[in-house]
Amino acid sequence: MYIGDSTFLCVFVSIVLFCFGTVFGSAINCMASRIVAGESWIKGKSHCEYCGHELGFFDLFPVLSYVFLGGRCRYCHTHISIRYVLVEIFCGLSFVLLFLNNKTLDARLLEYLILTVILFGLSLVDLDSYIIPDGFIIAGIINWLVFGLFMADKKSYYLNGLIGGFAIGGFILGMSLLMDRIMKKESLGGGDIKLLFMVCLYTGPFKGLLLLFLSCLIGLFFVVLLKERKIAFGPSISIATYFVLLYGDRLLSWYLSLF
Ligand SMILES: [Zn+2]
Repeated sequence: MYIGDSTFLCVFVSIVLFCFGTVFGSAINCMASRIVAGESWIKGKSHCEYCGHELGFFDLFPVLSYVFLGGRCRYCHTHISIRYVLVEIFCGLSFVLLFLNNKTLDARLLEYLILTVILFGLSLVDLDSYIIPDGFIIAGIINWLVFGLFMADKKSYYLNGLIGGFAIGGFILGMSLLMDRIMKKESLGGGDIKLLFMVCLYTGPFKGLLLLFLSCLIGLFFVVLLKERKIAFGPSISIATYFVLLYGDRLLSWYLSLF
């Protein structure tokens, strides 16, 4: 449903999506830190990381709780990492941007919102542990499979996705095996290759190439910026994916119009 004609509706939906985004950002952040800590990621009440005190109702509002408590735990007054609130805000903003891109409420938007939450989750875990758990990859593949059923052009959706996933994923797998042999050490983690396969299901082969190029560019940028030789590649792939979800179609048609 296109609602771009009504400014009021667009603003209203943006505000609602921002709130949803912060809630999901908060939840995925909590889940990611539980995975990194090796705790059960579904069961158990939320608790303060430092004093272990169970969090009450008023401690659980994304962004607002942080602001009103001055960025401290209500019980032990330890400073809570700003990362939590940043992830919540960024997740909210990325929800809004995805909507404003087409100003349309449809299955594709919901599909991309869920993918965005998955990308946030795996990036956070990868940043802390250099591991991308298979659960995130599987969730992404299931999301892609399920939403295909709601698309008008099912056949090209699945075909394009599979070609993208296997072509880009296979290419990278081949490249990294070759590099491993030359450099005699692991060049690219298995999780990164699986992640590239998963996200290229969404983009197809051409936008997949763009995604791969952007991922490397962003990765290189982080290496230079952080002055570290080993970085988690998952966040770079995730940012590139998000960019391609937003602008991939426009960039591709602009590029093709050059010929
Ligand atoms: Zn505490």
